[in-house]
Amino acid sequence: MKKYAKFISLVLAVMMFAGVFAGCGGDGNTTSGEPNTTSTEPIPTDFTTITEGVLTMSTNAEFPPYEMTDDNGDYIGIDVEVAKAIADKLGLTLQINDMGFDAAITACQNGASDIVMAGLTVNADREAIINFSNTYAKGVQVVIVTEDSPIASIDDLEGKKIGTQMGTTGYIYCSDTPENGGYGEENVTGYDSGITAVQALINGQVDAVVIDNEPAKVFVQENPGLKILDTEFTNEDYAIGVNKSNTALLDAINAALAELMNDGTFQSIVDKYITAE
Ligand code: GLN
Repeated sequence: MKKYAKFISLVLAVMMFAGVFAGCGGDGNTTSGEPNTTSTEPIPTDFTTITEGVLTMSTNAEFPPYEMTDDNGDYIGIDVEVAKAIADKLGLTLQINDMGFDAAITACQNGASDIVMAGLTVNADREAIINFSNTYAKGVQVVIVTEDSPIASIDDLEGKKIGTQMGTTGYIYCSDTPENGGYGEENVTGYDSGITAVQALINGQVDAVVIDNEPAKVFVQENPGLKILDTEFTNEDYAIGVNKSNTALLDAINAALAELMNDGTFQSIVDKYITAE
């Protein structure tokens, strides 16, 4: 009889335990009473990475406030912290490989890195070679000129010398033909980094720089005598690039990203680096 009672309580315990897990496994919101608009799937664990236990990210750490180095040479920025938070959720250690912007995309394409985070805009050409996560930020291409510049709008850029960062969407749009809304390849110089393009503007080698708005703000703040035109060039979405063959990792990253968005972690990282206007 005693034995039987023990068995019953064991069965009950197992059932309760399973019940707790069933409660956790679903959308995680079942008891909150909140409208379930932001439910997330549990993070899948069936992914692999190129090095076990490590999330290898390629980037170009010259794109403040998304990725840059601090005075100690440590990588900081929104992408860096978000990548770290995702790695934590996936039980991985983050490894950052810093290289040129184009090279960072190629590394992900070739499987030298698992992911690329670089304030990376989603576009069709890139979608052909890497997968993109859900988007996590908006980017705007803006125009930097010197304070005394006669250039007042993007129409005034016609026939002017334009500096961009090589391989970026700013370069891609500007170097397109005028029929397609560009200014012609001959008028556009691609520099190794955004700050080199800005340096060329300061030195008078180009008349304007077309670049993403957040780094533009940082560069203008750090270099007196420059301003950002009021007119916007294009609106874009940033996402995490993931190696095409690794769809299991893509799913896990999307699930982790959704959790970071829902629990406020993502916004608190952004707020550290971007002051609301
Ligand atoms: N958002 C731009 C692009 O994806 C620039 C990114 C960068 O320079 N890091 O092309």
